[in-house]
Amino acid sequence: MLDLQQLINGVYDDLQSSVGQGRVADYIPELAKVDPRKFGIAVTTLDGETVSVGDADESFSIQSISKVFALTLALGKIGDGLWRVGREPSGTAFNSIIQLEQEQGLPRNPFINARAIVVADILLAGHKPREAIGEILRFSRFVANDETVSIDPDVARSEQATGFRNVALANYMRSFGNIKHPTELTLGVYFHQCAIEMSCRQLSHAGVFLANGGRDPHTLQSIVSHERARRINALMLTCGHYDGSGDFAFRVGLPGKSGVGGGIMAIAPGRASIAVWSPGLNAQGNSMLGTRALELIAQRTGWSVFGP
Ligand code: GLU
Repeated sequence: MLDLQQLINGVYDDLQSSVGQGRVADYIPELAKVDPRKFGIAVTTLDGETVSVGDADESFSIQSISKVFALTLALGKIGDGLWRVGREPSGTAFNSIIQLEQEQGLPRNPFINARAIVVADILLAGHKPREAIGEILRFSRFVANDETVSIDPDVARSEQATGFRNVALANYMRSFGNIKHPTELTLGVYFHQCAIEMSCRQLSHAGVFLANGGRDPHTLQSIVSHERARRINALMLTCGHYDGSGDFAFRVGLPGKSGVGGGIMAIAPGRASIAVWSPGLNAQGNSMLGTRALELIAQRTGWSVFGP
């Protein structure tokens, strides 16, 4: 029988010589303060059990991993119409503006910044920014099954002060009528969702409904339908790592979503949800050691959506 604790301990030990590799995101000043040597892994299986190693209980900024939770909420709010445009990989950087001009302000998929800002705009409809932020936070706590999940106000402020590209993306889309609210309100929601903090343990729990056909294995509550869970996973596989999505699928073979805080949430359908954290990033803004850890976990467990 597979001893998962032993397996992740082995991966953790085998990667010790690479700890600290990659570049910590510094375009958000608050993120630049994080210790590059942090490294944690947690795996939550379908029986609700979690195994972990390293800094798996320390909170970090989940950044773009929050796009999975915001998308799930927005699908609940407006339904599958949200997919009508927006399910193609972009092949461009997370904050790129180039396709927006060529494609009339319609961003390719909800995991690049531009469309994630549209998703925040959808969640804002009928609410004050504070309420929309509260809704995203409540949902994140609900899926993590942990009321202590919170937003780091310093990270949110840091993004608000320096997120010039996101401001440009939002204004550009508003000129096409694709953002409905004043951009500073929509961006307020987006920046706060990115500033949600979770530990690997919380994050692995938060993803497990996607490994289990939409149902939380612990509480048995259905969070989304089977079909919707499959589609979110498909999008994570094809678009979850920006212009590094092909490489991630090739090396790891599982749906995954990264964030510039150095976290990655990966889904092994029918098996488990895996969260890794190591702040050093590769050129595409994805955790370098985190990707390597997931590659080894996938190899050693045999978990892959492409076959045994
Ligand atoms: N808050 C970050 C930004 O908008 C998210 C990027 C990421 O995690 O990939 O730039």
